[in-house]
Amino acid sequence: RPTILWHRRDLRLSDHPALDAAARRGGPVIPVFIRDNLVDKLGTAPVWRLGLGLGVLGESYAEKGSRLILRAGPPLEVLRKLVEETGAGAVYWMRAYDADSVERDERVKSGLKDDGLEAKSFAGHLMFEPWSVETKQGEFYKVYTPFWRAVKDREVPEPIATPGKIPAPADWPASDALDEWSLGAGMDRGADVVRPYVQLGESAAQARLGAFVSSKIGAYKANRDIPAVDGTSNLSENLALGEITPHQCWAAGMRALNDGKDDAQTFLQELVWREFAYHLLWHTPQLETGNWREEWDAFPWNEDERKSEVIAWKRARTGMAFVDAALREMYVTGRMHNRGRMIVASYLCKHLMCHWKIGKEWFEDCLIDWDPASNAMGWQWSAGSGPDATPYFRVFNPETQVDRFDKDRTFINRWIAEGQNNPPETALSYFEAIPRSWKISPDDDYPEPIVGAKEGRQRALDAYENRDF
Ligand code: FAD
Repeated sequence: RPTILWHRRDLRLSDHPALDAAARRGGPVIPVFIRDNLVDKLGTAPVWRLGLGLGVLGESYAEKGSRLILRAGPPLEVLRKLVEETGAGAVYWMRAYDADSVERDERVKSGLKDDGLEAKSFAGHLMFEPWSVETKQGEFYKVYTPFWRAVKDREVPEPIATPGKIPAPADWPASDALDEWSLGAGMDRGADVVRPYVQLGESAAQARLGAFVSSKIGAYKANRDIPAVDGTSNLSENLALGEITPHQCWAAGMRALNDGKDDAQTFLQELVWREFAYHLLWHTPQLETGNWREEWDAFPWNEDERKSEVIAWKRARTGMAFVDAALREMYVTGRMHNRGRMIVASYLCKHLMCHWKIGKEWFEDCLIDWDPASNAMGWQWSAGSGPDATPYFRVFNPETQVDRFDKDRTFINRWIAEGQNNPPETALSYFEAIPRSWKISPDDDYPEPIVGAKEGRQRALDAYENRDF
């Protein structure tokens, strides 16, 4: 009897334990992707990027003489219907760890088991299952460094190869057409602006990893902090949708380390930050929804999205060049350098005293590498309300950060057109990307800071004073 392979955020054929097991099970394999309410809840850029990824996954299956079936609706209903149509005896999938997915998957698993089917989830989105790492007291980790120490010497399973053959059924069940789903409908700037920055699918991700290891990993430690330098792997886009696995990245990093490239160690540590984010999300799902440290519930954060400061921040016209440059980079490329993410988040939460949820949701709408765990952790970390936070009283100074990380203003000039005689294409492309209703032009004067570096820092510190953090 056939096996249904339910794809979610695992758009690849290699190092895919569920596909491997399905292929070995014997009968035909029927790969399916279901457009459910969690897909419909995704932000504009993530759902657009998902649509592109599904197109490539479908092609990869076709090359193997197989197909990716597309269906829409509540997953349990859809899967039951597919079982009925195909006579499948098993449904396999790769595990997810955010609260919404966990709840959905539990419901699906018990429903299918009640029907007498084999319903099985597999590990592989992470190297270390969140419940498998615990302190001596049997608790989960709240701080990164001890988490790193607990996992760094563990055996990470070697990546597994793509099955040589993916047995096809004699008759394929019907599929929706990807185009008709219009997953990119909300993304006006998708095709023209963001698309050139996208590296789509499993083989592009492998090429990216190869290029990173051969030419960038040796100087990763210093370069990874400089936004003007393309010194990082850029693999977050592919990791987010499972076009590559952390195991594949880990194995490549280990090889580089063994080849004497010491900076590879820092890359391995960054991969473990991703694991740590999922560890936290699994153990404390409120990481995504509310202040991780409840003391912050009483803090007078602005939560009004219509406030002019929020609008200026989203439109990247705060007058703080580093902040605006990074926000424009995200709007145009769908990604933002890690240094930029920390600076724009700190400015929003501390200088502008706005709730981190506003920024988190804006990222969710704009990032093609949106990841539920890393985004939530990054925002709460930056705001000071999360575990392993930057101490709440440490306020990034968006001006001195320029001196440290963009001394010659290469990054700022790349993205801020206002005030330049001959702005580069990148800086101008922001103005092609934004809606006309924003009424901003490259010929405008660049604004004065809406809240100055020193003034904002003092305001935040005053607000923190006498609070019981
Ligand atoms: P590299 O430097 O090449 O690192 C390799 C991989 O390690 C990354 O692809 C990523 O999977 C992981 N990694 C690196 N840094 C971090 C980190 N700080 N936290 C967790 N994992 C990390 N990352 C996302 O993937 N999606 C998000 O939605 C996201 N939102 C963020 C929001 C804020 C406010 C902050 C401060 C950080 C956020 N990050 C997010 C983490 C980080 O900025 C990106 O993972 C990184 O910039 C991706 O670039 P890269 O792939 O070139 O990373």
